[in-house]
Amino acid sequence: MGLLSLGTPLDWADAKQLADYVRSNGVQQFLSIFYNLKDRQGEPLLWGDEIEYMVILLDEATQTAKLSLRQSEILEKLNSVTDDIANDSQSSYVKSQVPAFHPEFGRYMIESTPGVPYSAGLKELLTVEVNMRLRRNITKHHLPPNHVPITLTSFPTLGVNYPFLDPHYNPDGDASRSLFLPDQLINPHVRFPTLAANIRKRRGAKVAINVPIFFDVNTPRPFIDKTIPYDRDLFDSDSEAKNGAAKPDHIYMDAMGFGMGCSCLQLTFQACSVDEAFTVYDALAPVAPIMLALTAAAPVYRGYLADVDARWNVISAAVDDRTKEERGEVPLKHDKYRIPKSRYDSIDSYLSTSKRNRPEYNDNDLPINEDVYNELLAADIDTPLAKHIAHLFIRDPLVIFNELLNQDNKTSSDHFENIQSTNWQTLRFKPPPPQSKIGWRVEFRSMEVQLTDFENAAFSVFIVLLTRAILSFDLNFYMPISKVDVNMQTAQKRDAARAGKFFFRKNVFPKRDKTEYKFDSPRLGSIKSLDNLKNGFGGGVNEPDMNGKRTTSSDSLYSNYNTAIKPDEEMEEMSMDEIINGKEDASFPGLMGLVYAYLHSLNVDIETKCEIKKYLQFIKDRASGKYVTFATWIRDFMRSHPDYKGDSVVTAKMNYDFIIAADEIERGVRHEPSLLPPSYIGSDKLKEPSVSDLCNSVSNDPAPPKRPT
Ligand code: ADP
Ligand code: MG
Ligand code: MG
Ligand code: MG
Ligand code: MG
Ligand code: MG
Repeated sequence: MGLLSLGTPLDWADAKQLADYVRSNGVQQFLSIFYNLKDRQGEPLLWGDEIEYMVILLDEATQTAKLSLRQSEILEKLNSVTDDIANDSQSSYVKSQVPAFHPEFGRYMIESTPGVPYSAGLKELLTVEVNMRLRRNITKHHLPPNHVPITLTSFPTLGVNYPFLDPHYNPDGDASRSLFLPDQLINPHVRFPTLAANIRKRRGAKVAINVPIFFDVNTPRPFIDKTIPYDRDLFDSDSEAKNGAAKPDHIYMDAMGFGMGCSCLQLTFQACSVDEAFTVYDALAPVAPIMLALTAAAPVYRGYLADVDARWNVISAAVDDRTKEERGEVPLKHDKYRIPKSRYDSIDSYLSTSKRNRPEYNDNDLPINEDVYNELLAADIDTPLAKHIAHLFIRDPLVIFNELLNQDNKTSSDHFENIQSTNWQTLRFKPPPPQSKIGWRVEFRSMEVQLTDFENAAFSVFIVLLTRAILSFDLNFYMPISKVDVNMQTAQKRDAARAGKFFFRKNVFPKRDKTEYKFDSPRLGSIKSLDNLKNGFGGGVNEPDMNGKRTTSSDSLYSNYNTAIKPDEEMEEMSMDEIINGKEDASFPGLMGLVYAYLHSLNVDIETKCEIKKYLQFIKDRASGKYVTFATWIRDFMRSHPDYKGDSVVTAKMNYDFIIAADEIERGVRHEPSLLPPSYIGSDKLKEPSVSDLCNSVSNDPAPPKRPT
């Protein structure tokens, strides 16, 4: 990955001079990977999740909950614990299953991933929650006293004007120059403060994040935030807040940490070929906002209730390094492009070369680096991919390490990754690292992390099965990408999961012959579709294997694809319930209908299916409104707290009670029937798994799985 490589980072003024150098070598590295590995075929489905915890210190005496800045010592401990488990075991299989812990941007954050990616096979899906619980359990048991790891998307009192970090620091750091967040909150590895500083320097001002305030009964109108130290005079940029960066009726934030200090749930899938990766990437693009809304868990920022439920725009603005010229506020003079979006945002174009990917769907303004684009075309890269890469390459590299300037472009991907890994989009198309066995992968990045591993597993299992359904049934989710962006905004609105309407494609089935196939929709008895069972399942699937089974390529199937229908007529606005659970009038099966149809096409024992359906049932119920999102639950909790004054303010005590409640819900000692099914067993009551339990649940076969290097 190379992201955490040690070295001396260049200051922005020097890094800027080397931007073209990094880009041109980055393109060479991409081309080298592409040409070496474009024909890599038949890679099995492997996939994995990433879960980010906030480490929180609970102080009963003062009734406060603070973010604990002990990432380094905690990671050191976790890594020595996992090393010990691995060293104590004779079995290479057990060794491979030991989970991994990583640092994240916030010095109070820990990320965990499974030791090896999960493989294909339905039974393996039942190990996901076990795996997640094991990771949480290891973390829990090796934290300092009174610390808890909570999977919380945003910390309600981050950046308030009273202590919210332990240890406490004043916000006077030179990297962020924030009025609210000290630099000590940032992961001390030099890459991270440099990233924060260079974003600020490139932009020519601090980032300006404005989240609409939630107007409650006693919230003053207009809402002018009196807690902002408008008159501080430590840095020149201190005057930005009073000069318009802080908007009335909004919660103002001014540092990268407000966004990158949020946690999320990400999933990475390996495809069996580069084309399959394109297919999965494209199909998941319209799904990203839907899942953002359904997982929404972030309604409070800097001690105020917001009128949004999710983090996306916050994190997007938190790393927005575009200049005024690039943002279109003044005419272009020094900069090259008008850039409509932050480097953290939704994707702007689809990747597939299939005829199905109509030009009309790629209707976003797509500034591209022309030199890069021409170079890629000259090297025979297909147009959609060339546009995608050339779009990523309008950005400057933000952190350049002196020691890494000279690389062998045949064996390194560091310059490419420098640009790629600071384009934080809803989907990421991940080429194989050079000289590895890893295949082409797609990362799904929109979801907010859930409070419990039951929920995190449920969302992971659902998306994995959805990708399998997409490939098996050759589903078509294409819609104009500008409407996907409209959905991204809808998804973040307060109560979007219940009240929002989202554009989605009406007919998702491929045009093939007329063989009828019964879809076991959660809402409908059956749905007539044009899908051909035999084609869809590669001649009948009789093994519980989730690798792509498509037998024919979509191109030939779609040669006579009807392009007369206008893209706008192909979609309609639907509620969350309709998109997930299907429409009453049988015209749309719902994503869950597709997942169920896929599940039933597999020859798996009833018991396994029942276990999987527990997760799917939960997603169905969240989508139907039977269960609320965590965002809704948090908002209700705060608003009904005895200390709440109806003025949108979340106090230190409310935050403490909230964190206690969140921890109790996760442990299963506090029941919240609006949030979780009665069958939910918290970590206090469940025997927490050990690595060997995990191994037993993964497989009885002692042979170690293939581990990608
Ligand atoms: P990043 O932070 O760059 O997105 P991480 O290494 O933190 O990446 O997480 C990558 C995820 O991908 C992990 O869950 C891991 O298990 C999974 N993974 C690793 N190798 C593969 C692979 N070959 N195919 C699919 N997923 C993989
Ligand atoms: Mg990661
Ligand atoms: Mg990350
Ligand atoms: Mg990462
Ligand atoms: Mg992460
Ligand atoms: Mg990731």
